Amino acid sequence: MKKIIIAIDGFSSCGKSTMAKSLARNIGYLYFDSGAMYRAVALFCLEQRLIADGVIDVDTLRNRMSEIRITFEADPVTKNSVTILNGRNVEKEIRSLEVSRIVSQVAALDFVRTDMIAQQRSMGEAKGIVMDGRDIGTTVFPNAEMKIFVTASAEVRAQRRYDEIIARGDSANFDEILENVQLRDHIDQTREVSPLRKADDALLLDNSFMTREEQEQWLIERFNEIVKE
Ligand code: C5P
Repeated sequence: MKKIIIAIDGFSSCGKSTMAKSLARNIGYLYFDSGAMYRAVALFCLEQRLIADGVIDVDTLRNRMSEIRITFEADPVTKNSVTILNGRNVEKEIRSLEVSRIVSQVAALDFVRTDMIAQQRSMGEAKGIVMDGRDIGTTVFPNAEMKIFVTASAEVRAQRRYDEIIARGDSANFDEILENVQLRDHIDQTREVSPLRKADDALLLDNSFMTREEQEQWLIERFNEIVKE
């Protein structure tokens, strides 16, 4: 069967990663979380104190980009893909609200995007991958054979993020999360480089009222249609 590239883009916290991961598992493809790469760069900024009062030291970050190496590995226990920043598993750290607060600013920097996009393209060289993000179907892989654009209301998405944090035993404030979701939507849609938008040839999936199983089924059906063509 021919191998293809599957691009799953959409708003933050709409379950892209969950569906992209399960699709990849079901069809035997590799999964890449491009958002995790921007989050790792944001974590680097925090840890190296390249951010003060919410303002990034852009010149220093530009000069130090070559120090940032991001890869993905399978967790030896859960087998889930985890993000490695310069040899260290940072999967938990990159999901913190601190990182969420600054990641969209970091991702709006043109030199950060150029660097990440080059790495993402090399991950797709052999095809057979599912990658999720904001600009995968528009900029990273404009010729991807299957493109999905996922959306859901900001409230539904904030509730999901809230439930996730509570489920892992941490505390959370719904209004703060909703505000973060809306702010990130705004920055992602209005930035100059590679803004979040649906590719003309992407299939739209509004999952506000769909179960995980329904989404999984929908994706497999689309995949089977495309590889059969
Ligand atoms: O997908 P996730 O919410 O983890 O992504 C974190 C942030 O990284 C997004 O809010 C967005 O600002 C940025 N991002 C991006 N382009 C991508 C993936 C993520 O700008 N392809």
